[in-house]
Amino acid sequence: MTESARGAPSAEGLVTPDDTPPRAKSLAPLRQLLGFLWPHKGRLIGASVALVFTAGAQLTLGYGVKMLIDEGFAGSDPSGLYQAVIFMLIIGLAMAVGAMIRFYLVSWLGERVSADLRSAVFNNLVHMQPSYFESNHSGEIMSRLTTDTTLLQTLIGSSVSLAVRNALTLTGALTLMVITNLKLSLVILVAVPVTLIPILVFGRRVRKLSNRSQQTIAEVGSHAGEIFQSIKVVQSFNREAAEKAAFGHDVEQAFAVARARVRQRALLTGFAILLLMGGMVGMMWSGGLDVIEGRMTGGELGAFVFYAVMVGTAFATLSEVWGDLQRAAGAAERLMELLAETSEIADTGTLSAASQSVLSFDKAHFAYPSRPSHPALQDFSLDIEHGESVALVGPSGAGKSTVFELILRFYDPTAGAIKFGDADLRHLSLESWREKIALVPQQPALFSGDIFYNIAYGATDPSQASVESAARMAHAHDFIQTLPDGYRSHLGAQGVRLSGGQRQRIALARAILSDPELLLLDEATSALDTESEWHVQQALTEIMRERTTIIIAHRLSTVINADRIVVMDEGRVVDSGTHDALMKRCDLYQRLAKLQFQSERVI
Ligand code: ATP
Repeated sequence: MTESARGAPSAEGLVTPDDTPPRAKSLAPLRQLLGFLWPHKGRLIGASVALVFTAGAQLTLGYGVKMLIDEGFAGSDPSGLYQAVIFMLIIGLAMAVGAMIRFYLVSWLGERVSADLRSAVFNNLVHMQPSYFESNHSGEIMSRLTTDTTLLQTLIGSSVSLAVRNALTLTGALTLMVITNLKLSLVILVAVPVTLIPILVFGRRVRKLSNRSQQTIAEVGSHAGEIFQSIKVVQSFNREAAEKAAFGHDVEQAFAVARARVRQRALLTGFAILLLMGGMVGMMWSGGLDVIEGRMTGGELGAFVFYAVMVGTAFATLSEVWGDLQRAAGAAERLMELLAETSEIADTGTLSAASQSVLSFDKAHFAYPSRPSHPALQDFSLDIEHGESVALVGPSGAGKSTVFELILRFYDPTAGAIKFGDADLRHLSLESWREKIALVPQQPALFSGDIFYNIAYGATDPSQASVESAARMAHAHDFIQTLPDGYRSHLGAQGVRLSGGQRQRIALARAILSDPELLLLDEATSALDTESEWHVQQALTEIMRERTTIIIAHRLSTVINADRIVVMDEGRVVDSGTHDALMKRCDLYQRLAKLQFQSERVI
C-alpha cells in the first residue's frame, strides 16, 4: 500500500488485510539493515529532520482550526478570519515542503538500500559452490531477491517513516487533546480501545484468509506454468479436457477462499464505519453540550475533534505498520541468511598455478554430500602430462563427470589430493586455477544475448576476427552466417532458438576462444551429426595438439585417437592404455567396444 493511501484517514485504514509473506517473531533482524543505511547517514538525518518538522506542523493545524472557528467564523469582523487563514496557509506550505522533502529522501533510501541488498546477495551467491543451488531451488532464491528486497524497500521507503510520524502525531495529539478538554479526553481514551477490539479480531480473520487466498492463487499460477511448459506432452496425450477440468477446480477453490475473505472484509468495513461514526456523534453530543453550556468554545471543540481524528488515524496506522514491520523482519532475516552463506569451496589458496605441469589425482576419494555413503570416486589415482590427451571411458555412473567436477573445484575430494605440479589445488587461488581451464559440458549453457556475446563469454575483450576464427574451428561459422543477424543474432533464453548440435558448437567455440591450457570435453560432440562431428573432430585434433585435453565420450570412435584411454568403473581406474592395448587386455573395454560396434552396425 502506498504511503498516501495509508495516510488518508478512512474506515478501511483501521484494518490490515494485506498480502502476507511469513513474518518474523521479533524485529531483531531489522537491526542488521542499519549496516546498509549507515553509508547514507546524511540523507537519513535529513529525512528525520523533515519528518519531525512535518509532524510538528500537522499538530499546529489543530490550533489553526480553533482560530478559524473562534476568531474567524464567530468573530465580528473579517480580520480574525484573515489572520486564521494566513496562519493555515503558512502551516499548509510548511507541511507541503516538509512532506515533499521527507517523501523524496525516505523513498530514495528505500530504493537505494533494496538495490544495495540485491547486489550484495547476488555478489555473495555467485561464489557459492554449485551444489548449493541443487539443495536451494534457484527459483526460491530469485523470489527472495525480488520479493523480499521489495518488502524491505517498502519498509524503509514508507513503513518506518509512517510509524515514526504516526507515533509522533499520536503522542502530540493525545497531549493536546488532554490540554484542550480533560473530561472528553478521558471518555475517548476509554471508548477507543473498547471499539477497536472487535475490529482487530475481524482484521486478524481477514488477514488469515488473505494469506490463504494468495497461496491458492499462487498454486493456480504454477499449475498453469507447468502445463504450458509441457504443452507438447499435454496435447500429444489429448489431455486438454482433463487439464481444463483440473485447472477449473483450482480456480474455483481460489474463488471460494477469496469470497470468504471479501465477506469478512465487507463486514469489517461496515463495522468500522459504524463504530467510527458512533464515536464521532457521541463526541459531538457531549462536546456540543459543553459548548452550549459555555464550558468550552466552539473552536476548542473543533480542535478537539481534529486531534481525536488524528489520534484514531495514527493508532490505526500504527497497528497496520506493525504487521508490515514483522513481515519486513521476516524478509530481512531470510536475506541476511543468504548474505551470511559462505562457499564450501574455500578460496584461501594464494599460489598462482604454474604452467605446463602434470595434473595428478593422488588416491582421491569423493562422495557427493547428498549421498555420503555412496562414493563417486574411490582411491582414484591418475597422472596427466602436459599436452597429453586422455579419454575417460566407462559405464554410466562410473564417475567420469565427477572427475571434471573435482578438477574444476566445484567440489574438493574428501580424502587424497589433486595436484597441479607440486601444488595441491586447494593451495592455488581459485581464479588463477580456473583461468587455465575451459569446459565444454554435456548440456551447453548459453545465455540470453547474441552469438558474439556467447562465444566471447570466457575471453577478455576479444576481437570480431578472433571470435570468427574460433567459430570456424568449431565448425560453427557457416551456420552462424545463415542466421538473420549473423554474429549479432539473439539466441533467446538459454539458446532455445538453436538446435542441440548448434549449441554444442557455440560452446566449443567459446572454449577454443578462451585458449585454455586444460580443455575438458564432456560428451562435447554427442549432439552433432556425423558430418559435423567429423569436421569438429578434425578441429579438435588441431586444438588438442597444444594443450592438455581430457575427453569423456560414450562413442568410442571419438576417443580412439586419444594418447591414452582410461577405463573407469565404480569410481576407480580399471585400466589405461591405447585402444589397441586395451582391446587386447581389458575385459570391460572389450565389452564396451563390442556393444558399440554391434549397435553401430544395427544403426
Ligand atoms: P554418465 O556417463 O552417465 O554421465 P558418469 O560416469 O559421468 O556417468 P558421474 O556423473 O560422475 O558418472 O556420477 C558418478 C556417481 O555419482 C553416480 O552414481 C551418480 O548417481 C552420482 N552423482 C552424480 N552427480 C551427483 C550429484 N550432484 N549428487 C549426488 N550424486 C551424484
